[in-house]
Amino acid sequence: MKPAIIVHGGAWKIAEDTHADHIAGTRAAVAAGWALLKQGETALDAVEAAVSAMEDDPTFDAGIGSVLNRVGEIEMDAIIMDGETLALGAVAAVRGIINPVRLARLIVRDTDHSLLVAEGARRFAELKGMRLCAEAELTVPREVERFRALQQKKDYHLSEGFTPDPMDTVGAVAIDANGNVAAATSTGGVHYKLPGRVGDSPLVGAGAYADNLTGAASATGHGESIMRVVLSKTTTDALGQGMSAQEAADYAIKYMYDRVSGYGGIIVVDSQGEIAFAYNTPHMAVAWVDSSGEIQARIKG
Ligand code: ASP
Repeated sequence: MKPAIIVHGGAWKIAEDTHADHIAGTRAAVAAGWALLKQGETALDAVEAAVSAMEDDPTFDAGIGSVLNRVGEIEMDAIIMDGETLALGAVAAVRGIINPVRLARLIVRDTDHSLLVAEGARRFAELKGMRLCAEAELTVPREVERFRALQQKKDYHLSEGFTPDPMDTVGAVAIDANGNVAAATSTGGVHYKLPGRVGDSPLVGAGAYADNLTGAASATGHGESIMRVVLSKTTTDALGQGMSAQEAADYAIKYMYDRVSGYGGIIVVDSQGEIAFAYNTPHMAVAWVDSSGEIQARIKG
């Protein structure tokens, strides 16, 4: 089997002056995953490497650069899933670590659990020897400014419901030389979210799904819509019904819009190694390795 990998660096409106950073960041993420796949490493290792590269990059809303919630804190969500065994690890509302996807991977490797949240997730990180960091290390000036601006807007009071814009969540899907697929997604969530709000990203089937029998998918966009239609599993189920990777991605995004008026994007790899993406937001940042082995990175709009 020829390996394949595709990553995303979020959907929605990606500001013009950050396009170059998004392209550089998604390109570096694909390169990190592809280097492992070329050496015969697993799809699971490749998606972990790709996503953690974007968590380290302050451009994205994941790890360093995560958005601030309504009390100015950073709470992060992540998931990783192995399509061979259907084993998954996820963390939700975790604070004070740089690479939530690596913590999710340790849950797969070292526990018989699937999802750890908040303080328990952080304690597990500590137990495993992951470096805990101060919030300041994750916080970038861009997000402090955004937080202050939102605080000034009176429509953002707690009592008034509103739909926040999704941000630059990251994700990756891959297939390795043995035909095993994997998916991973990581996010700081949506800006100005209520403390404790968990989005779609760490929820299996919503933020990501991987099954060797069909393929793997990773989602971005409005979490409360994505979880209602279980977007990633809807995409891989469509593969199971005989759709091509592109047809499945298009179908799932259209289904989310038709059913819940939801906006977002999806990346997918099928069990034959075909990759595709679809989105109905103004932009989506994606990068992949093409059939000649070249890395392609684009802000699609
Ligand atoms: N889906 C993420 C969430 O709702 C946000 C995003 O993809 O930008 O937390």
